[in-house]
Amino acid sequence: MSQVQQQEGEVETFAFQAEIAQLMSLIINTFYSNKEIFLRELVSNASDALDKIRYESLTDPHKLDSGKELYIKIIPDKANNTLTIIDTGIGMTKADLVNNLGTIARSGTKAFMEALQAGADISMIGQFGVGFYSAYLVADRVTVVTKHNDDEQYIWESAAGGSFTVKLDSSEPIGRGTKIVLHMKEDQAEYNDEKKVKEIIKKHSQFIGYPIKLLVEKERDKEISDDEAEEDKKEEAKEEKKEGEEEKPKVEEIEEGSDKEDEGEKDKKKKKTIKEKYTDEEELNKTKPLWTRNPEDISQAEYGEFYKSLTNDWEDHLAVKHFSVEGQLEFRALLFIPKRAPFDLFENKKQKNSIKLYVRRVFIMENCEELMPEYLNFIRGVVDSEDLPLNISREMLQQSKILKVIRKNLVKKCMELIEEIGEDKENFKKFYEQFGKNIKLGIHEDSTNRKKLCEFLRYQTSASGDEASSLKDYVSRMKENQKDIYYITGESREIVASSAFVEKVKKRGFEVIYMTDPIDEYCVQQLKEFDGKKLVSVTKEGLELPEDEEDKKKREADAEKFENLCKVMKDILDKKVEKVAVSTRLVSSPCCIVTSQYGWSANMERIMKAQALRDTSTMGYMAAKKHLEINPDHPIVKSLKAKVDADKNDKSVKDLVVLLFETSLLSSGFSLENPQTHGERIFRMIKMGLGIDEDEVEEPVEDTKPVEDIPPLEEASRMEEVD
Ligand code: ADP
Ligand code: MG
Repeated sequence: MSQVQQQEGEVETFAFQAEIAQLMSLIINTFYSNKEIFLRELVSNASDALDKIRYESLTDPHKLDSGKELYIKIIPDKANNTLTIIDTGIGMTKADLVNNLGTIARSGTKAFMEALQAGADISMIGQFGVGFYSAYLVADRVTVVTKHNDDEQYIWESAAGGSFTVKLDSSEPIGRGTKIVLHMKEDQAEYNDEKKVKEIIKKHSQFIGYPIKLLVEKERDKEISDDEAEEDKKEEAKEEKKEGEEEKPKVEEIEEGSDKEDEGEKDKKKKKTIKEKYTDEEELNKTKPLWTRNPEDISQAEYGEFYKSLTNDWEDHLAVKHFSVEGQLEFRALLFIPKRAPFDLFENKKQKNSIKLYVRRVFIMENCEELMPEYLNFIRGVVDSEDLPLNISREMLQQSKILKVIRKNLVKKCMELIEEIGEDKENFKKFYEQFGKNIKLGIHEDSTNRKKLCEFLRYQTSASGDEASSLKDYVSRMKENQKDIYYITGESREIVASSAFVEKVKKRGFEVIYMTDPIDEYCVQQLKEFDGKKLVSVTKEGLELPEDEEDKKKREADAEKFENLCKVMKDILDKKVEKVAVSTRLVSSPCCIVTSQYGWSANMERIMKAQALRDTSTMGYMAAKKHLEINPDHPIVKSLKAKVDADKNDKSVKDLVVLLFETSLLSSGFSLENPQTHGERIFRMIKMGLGIDEDEVEEPVEDTKPVEDIPPLEEASRMEEVD
């Protein structure tokens, strides 16, 4: 887009970005009755624009030279069938107009259309950042006149249909700000009705922080002498203000009456009373800012309305906390937890407007990042400080000690708020479904509140059934001799519940926590312990189940008995594993792969490999260090031992060990480096099982795999002995 100023009269036509065009025709063509939300969206945009100019003026007061008064004005015009919304906000430059109202794709456009398809409601539009287009619910043509301090006045116009026009406008200067004229659809005339507008503003926009003025038509009696009548008609406009104030005694006469009485006579002094129309402004939102009021006087419904107007949400909040802090530092705050996470909660870079900052009732900024840690970015609300300077800039905010103290207090209050939700199990479940990830992120990031945050965790476990259990509940169910909290991480509940690692622990009567969210891997790295009890992964080395004398004796005896087998296996597998050891955690599987205490688990390795763009250099040293554990009670392991004891150099041993290792990798949740070779080994075994002689089959030439990996037929056939 060229920045060159347009010539007077020149009209430029632009095509809407494809998805926006699609969205507009959807808005126009969908049958939808709750159309009134268009006004909430336009008023919300006006309020945003006012916020912006106010914020800029804090550091540069000259920005208000183009108009000091900040307000929103709504003008219903029945005669022309239009509804006009004016704001004295920041306005838009020509480039803003073209970019913001039509040509630049917004992530919310597509997301919103998908949401609609999935049964979402059009009133959700504001949350997706495309609220402006809701104007087309009621208007078939929209005109936007706008003036930004840095540019000329421009007019944008579109009757949808895929395109809009922009032209320079020097007709009626508006000073600064934006004037949106909705040319109402024929059947939507009800929305430019005074009463209807009042009703909608009260419902959706009563907490907007700038005066919303409605232009209303009023009627009053006016007395005139006959002679004056003609003249006065011309002067009406000038006089109406003056006369409105001072009430003159009324002469109870109407025109017809006086006509009768004065028939035939024209008396100059005789007065007449006529009905006169005039316009007046009514402020629609005179309510005091909600957070300044006493919480005891505020109903839940009022909080709900406030929350909705603050967030563009269409539903009430899940929980609210309204409090003030006094002492060395003074502020009031109102914090809300929504019922749902926004569609882009974890989308990078997207500016979050979670907490609005006010200083002594004056709005400072929309999105004060310094007020909340990232993991609490779902909390919405306002903070009103008594101590910060009014002309505070973003740079100053980052340094501000006051802000740091406020933030600490807010986080503490958030913890209380979440705890309060926890008192109602059903509510907490809803909360956790939406924001459980945030809690886990918090545990990873916020060491100060980690202890508190741990209490909010909920997991399914081997004993919890379909319900999720808190760590506290888990601890209350721990066996007398149980020292540690056992957990497993993995891809899904089904997979971890049936894994070999869980077997023994469960069999011994201990409960295992199932962690199946990728973020659990990160969270548990920091979690380490709860209530003085260590969290121990059942898939990592060093799992020590409580044992009695007998268990201990057996473990020591097994270790000795299988020492040689372990050594032979380690020699064969060489660098593929760190160690081969006798396991105490297996029941029905012959072996498993566990990982070292501090490296990645199989699940973490899977997650990391899935992140295609990540830096691969950590892959090397963080990649899971694998230990092969063998089950001393399993027939496969016992037979293998017998084979090794009989002849250490038995040629089939090597292939059996490799096959065992690779199969264990798979069942322990790892992927194979070379699945092809593994597959070939398995196929050979199948052939043997079916009694097919290797020589009978025409093998294609396979030159990609190392020769040593293919067991010679003679050796492979001996594998049968094992099973
Ligand atoms: P959102 O408000 O979530 O950004 P909208 O579709 O409601 O999405 O508005 C799109 C953009 O158009 C706004 O971000 C803003 O840049 C611009 N805009 C809309 N209305 C106004 C206005 N009254 N004054 C200035 N800019 C506006
Ligand atoms: Mg908007």
